[in-house]
This record gives sequence, C-alpha cells and structure tokens, in this order.
Amino acid sequence: MSLISPWRADFPALDALQRQGQTYLDSAATAQKPQALIDAMAHYYANGAANVHRAQHLPGAMATQAFEDTRRKAGEWLNAGDSGHVVFTHGTTSALNLLAYGLEHLFEAGDEIVISALEHHANLLPWQQLAKRRQARLVVLPLTTQGVIDLDAAATLISSRTRLLAVGQLSNVLGTWQPVAQLIALARAQGALTVIDGAQGVVHGRHDVQAMHCDFYVFSGHKLYGPDGVGVLFGRHQALAQLRHWQFGGEMVLQAGYLDATFRPAPLGFEAGTPPISAVIGLGATFDYLNDVNQTAVAEHEARLHDLLCAGLLLREGVRLLGDPSVALASFVIEGVHNADLAHLLTEQGIAVRAGHHCAIPLISSLGLAGAIRVSLGLYNDSEDLAHFFNALDQALELLR
Ligand code: PMP
Repeated sequence: MSLISPWRADFPALDALQRQGQTYLDSAATAQKPQALIDAMAHYYANGAANVHRAQHLPGAMATQAFEDTRRKAGEWLNAGDSGHVVFTHGTTSALNLLAYGLEHLFEAGDEIVISALEHHANLLPWQQLAKRRQARLVVLPLTTQGVIDLDAAATLISSRTRLLAVGQLSNVLGTWQPVAQLIALARAQGALTVIDGAQGVVHGRHDVQAMHCDFYVFSGHKLYGPDGVGVLFGRHQALAQLRHWQFGGEMVLQAGYLDATFRPAPLGFEAGTPPISAVIGLGATFDYLNDVNQTAVAEHEARLHDLLCAGLLLREGVRLLGDPSVALASFVIEGVHNADLAHLLTEQGIAVRAGHHCAIPLISSLGLAGAIRVSLGLYNDSEDLAHFFNALDQALELLR
C-alpha cells in the first residue's frame, strides 16, 4: 500500500535529508520543522530582535506581542481556558526540574512521590533527587505486559501518603498511551498533586488539560514540530499558587532592595532572565501551522503509518516489539542479533533511527535488555520511508545472521 504525506512539502528538511541519502525516522527525539516556523524566526531576526516585556520601544512591543500571542496559542492548544497559566521553560526537562525544586517545600520525610516504571529520565531523576533531599519515598508503579501502567497496582500504591503523582502520557520507548485520567483521579482522591509529562503525548492528537484534571502538564516545543530551547509548563491556578520561585533574576521580580525582594506570580515569576524569544515566536508559528492542518487527516495518516510499521516489523523473523505501541513509535529487538550491530548497519544505509536505552535505563533494564532500536514517525513520513527502512533492515539481517 502506498501512503503519501500531504504535509511533507511543508517541511523543507525532508527533501534536504533525502538529498543527503537520509531517511529520517527519529521524530520522537526531535521533529523536523515546517517552513512557517523557519520564516517566522527568520522574520524576527531580519526585522529587529528586541527583548520582551520591559522595552518601551516599538521593536520591543512587537516582540512582546508575538511572545504573548504564543502563550495564548499554547493555552488554546491545551484547551487550558482560564483554568491556569502557561509558563515558558527551556523544555520538558527544565519544566520538571522547576517543579521538583518549586514544590520541594511541600514534602516531609515519609511522603511519597509516585512515578511509573516507564518514565524518561527527565521524569524520574528530578523526583529521585527531590526524594533524597526531603527523605521522601519514590514509589514506582508497575506495568502490564502491554506496557501500560497497571491500574490495579496503582489503586493500592496511590495512598494517603502520596503527595505527588508524575507520569508520562505516552511512553517514548513503548509508544503506549498511559491511563493518565484514571491515575489523576486516583491521586486527586488522595489530595495529591499531579504532573503529566506530555513530551511525547502532545505530538499525537489534541489534549485537554481541563478534562484531564492534571495540576501540571509539560512539553517541549521541538518534538511538536517547533523549535528547540523552548518548553511549556501549564499549571492550574491552585497548583501554581503552591509553587515557590526557584530561579531568580530579571523579569521575575516585582520590587528589589539590597537585602530583600518580592516576586511576580506565574507566569512571569517563573521566567527569570531573557526567555528564548525567537524560539517562542517560532513555536507560535508552529501552532498556527498545526491549527491549519486537518487534525483528523493527520490522525488517520499516523494510524496507517503505525499499522505499516508494526505489521512490517512483526513480519521479520525474531522481532520482539517492546509493548504494544499505540502510535507510529515502536522499539524492538531481534533475537540473536546485537542491537548495536544492527543500529550500525542501519546507520550506514542512511536510516536515521535511534538505538540504545532511550533515556529510560530502568525500563530497558527491567525488560532484561541493554538497548533497543526505536523507529518514530511524524506526519511528514510516508510509505517510501518505511520501504527504505525495511529494505535496509532486511539487508542488515542478511549480513548479521
Ligand atoms: N519525557 C519524555 C517522555 C521524552 O520523550 C523526553 C525527550 N526524549 C523528555 C521527557 C525530555 O524532553 P527534553 O529533552 O526536550 O527536555
């Protein structure tokens, strides 16, 4: 079956990569960018860069306008309404670290922080370090064999000791959606705060933070076809009110003396220093681009890519898929074949996939593996990309077996 992407031409890098003999199948690590983003960032730099918020002059006012427009668009993307604020960070990792420091004062010895067995290091290590600082306990929710957080286990492990739940919405290794709504309900019933790592989930479909009822939802621009260097932290008003300032400097201050200072509330209170202005403007253009594409058509296209990818992998002898992927993101190992050797042969043939532990060493180790190969597709991929991949895979297997 031939599957063409109507959006491929919107992403100039796809052609450029093709000219370099590269088939890009690593969008979960970072996605390629639409021309609209490149134009918006070039326009900003070519027409007058200016700092935001404090400038009196016209370029400053224009930059501030574009910057604040993106804040509004990010809130709309998540259907935040007036339930909370969007804070710009440098990415998912910096948002999660902000939370782990900004909420630290709420934890006492013996309090529990609940995560799951599949978390990316970005949603594990900040909480692990917080637990050490406060003598709190990290509780790890187990997975079912399909690679989904086990809700029965969660119902017993989330308890009155739980102060915070932090889980990924979509696993970056297994490609599985997680039952975040049910987990949030369990945590809320115990009065715990809830944090959703939306780094992968935000890319697939539209999500509604009001319906999800999470306190915080975080993601990075660069995986959502936006620029790197910028991330979004959505927080509900009541949750943001509990967050302490953790980075200090310009922009976030209300009044400053030599010995003391007062600080702004969210969002600006959590955006110390000059923010990534051009990236925020680029992210705004990305939201415009994504709002213009037909989301239903994208979902259908991605569902077909998912089917082609999973069916093609399972056709190959000895392939073991990790989990049961819900989107066009699949990690696999092949019996009797060393992961690194296969990755090397794929790379030599211009196939850009990711191999290794995918920043989830505890998960990969718990599966008894040293690593896996991950193929992850974006809206611009097509069946020809997959044909290149499977050809290269077959050739590599012929050499290795
Ligand atoms: N969480 C998940 C699920 C991810 O896939 C990633 C990126 N691989 C991150 C967090 C961290 O994102 P960033 O590196 O953009 O901060």
